[in-house]
Amino acid sequence: MSNTQTNHRSQKKYYFSRKKYCFFCKERIKLIDYKDVKILENFILDTGKIQPARVSGTCSYHQKQLTKAIKRARHMGLLKFVEPRRG
Ligand SMILES: [Zn+2]
Repeated sequence: MSNTQTNHRSQKKYYFSRKKYCFFCKERIKLIDYKDVKILENFILDTGKIQPARVSGTCSYHQKQLTKAIKRARHMGLLKFVEPRRG
């Protein structure tokens, strides 16, 4: 009897649509630059809120940086502030 290979743990597969994978890990971006507005915009919802990590698939490490970068970009005027609607 030969032993069957059932060990799939070492295989890393990236399911693009099924399982979301952290964009920044994938792109090997260690530090998120607040000047990368085009990237940041992808993580901002229509409402102006930052996409939650569970939606975007961003890992906690990068989510933290993303939040920081977006806040900074807003502060620098690179990203628009979304004013909360009243009434
Ligand atoms: Zn990541």
